[in-house]
Amino acid sequence: MTKTFSELGLNDALQKALRDQNYTTPTPIQTAAIPHLLEGRDLLGCAQTGTGKTAAFALPILHNLGLAWDTKLTPKQTRVLVLTPTRELAIQIEENFRAYGKYMNLKHAVIFGGVGQTPQVKALSRGVDVLIATPGRLLDLIQQKYLSLSGVEVFVLDEADRMLDMGFVHDINKVLKLLPHARQNLFFSATMPPDIVKLSNTILKNPIKVEITPPATTVELIQQSVMYVDRKHKSDLLRHLLKDNTLDRVIVFTRTKHGANRVVEVLEKNRIPSAAIHGNKSQGARQKALENFRAGKVRVLVATDIAARGIDIDDISHVINYEVPNISESYVHRIGRTARAGTSGIAISFCDAEEKAFIRDIEKLIAQPIPVDTKHPYHSAEIAEARTMSSGKAKAAIEGNRGGGRGRRPPGRRFGGGGRGGPSGGGGRNPSSRGSRDARS
Ligand code: AMP
Repeated sequence: MTKTFSELGLNDALQKALRDQNYTTPTPIQTAAIPHLLEGRDLLGCAQTGTGKTAAFALPILHNLGLAWDTKLTPKQTRVLVLTPTRELAIQIEENFRAYGKYMNLKHAVIFGGVGQTPQVKALSRGVDVLIATPGRLLDLIQQKYLSLSGVEVFVLDEADRMLDMGFVHDINKVLKLLPHARQNLFFSATMPPDIVKLSNTILKNPIKVEITPPATTVELIQQSVMYVDRKHKSDLLRHLLKDNTLDRVIVFTRTKHGANRVVEVLEKNRIPSAAIHGNKSQGARQKALENFRAGKVRVLVATDIAARGIDIDDISHVINYEVPNISESYVHRIGRTARAGTSGIAISFCDAEEKAFIRDIEKLIAQPIPVDTKHPYHSAEIAEARTMSSGKAKAAIEGNRGGGRGRRPPGRRFGGGGRGGPSGGGGRNPSSRGSRDARS
């Protein structure tokens, strides 16, 4: 039976804040995780953004901090550390802590790279209850003695798989060495490949395990279609669809950064306000693009899977897969952006000859066929009728054609077994996104 937030044992101040947010019922991950986290247990959570995972950890953390509300803060220390891979996520998590904790008198701060450190140093000077940080800047400030982790009571590692994808493993290990031995640990990852399981084993003690698999449930709410179109006509098809004003807040997904840039160029030439977010953009540029998109100043956001992951934007009218992802889970994550918090949405996939194989894989994963939409001027009967090649061949053909040459991501594993590698999209780890700290996505 569905529980209420009060049945989960959260204090009145938190329940009031949740009412302000119009949250009526806990999401499955919240129901599963909160009671154990209130008891101080460690947690291994296999879940991604969109499941309500932030509240699943923020609420019990705030509740427990509230039990010791009169604890004096120690200068340059924090009681809770949330480590997250990107600036965008750090900001979002802090916003959530602020919203849920608005009737509690707790101090929190957020630190990330790519901006001046002075305000962050100031925020830490008298100590905080909750600190949300990206790894690079965190370690920089520790090295400069503006912060110590010796008082951490709760450690949250968010989006662990993405952290490793981004090359943060050494930073994480450094942070772990600086934490006190006795602490509560929460570990979240969207996928559970072997390196993540290994990392979690070094951090967690007798954790409870919570796995939330959104695929089928989210997918059902979304009106999906596939449009067969020659690669050379994809931009024409996009322009054609955007003539319809009901497509008012659209995310267009491409597999690569170059692809994203090309789409933005076409849209700009046609005076359609758009912006791209991907790892080659500066932090400032990405943040600005997101703000403009949220504010409705930009109608189309063009993104790669990695850059878009974890970004929380409500009311997306349409997701357009300009390129079909070759990792089926990415499809589910992409289209899930248009069905946030139970609303329905529309997802359209542009499929060229080689991508038919990926559509077939996706249909297997979501266990339903994706209806073909032929009612557009660029429909290719040839592609519709062509035999579907194997996904391996399709991948090789695409990499050959587009000079991709990116490595295949090793298969991942969910708790229940079975699932394939993660939603990093783009066909694998991207060596070019490693190297600089915090400024990536
Ligand atoms: P997250 O997975 O933490 O990124 O959350 C995804 C979205 O769901 C965010 O916009 C949250 O504000 C929202 N959310 C989280 N928990 C609930 C809830 N219990 N009821 C309604 N919305 C929620």
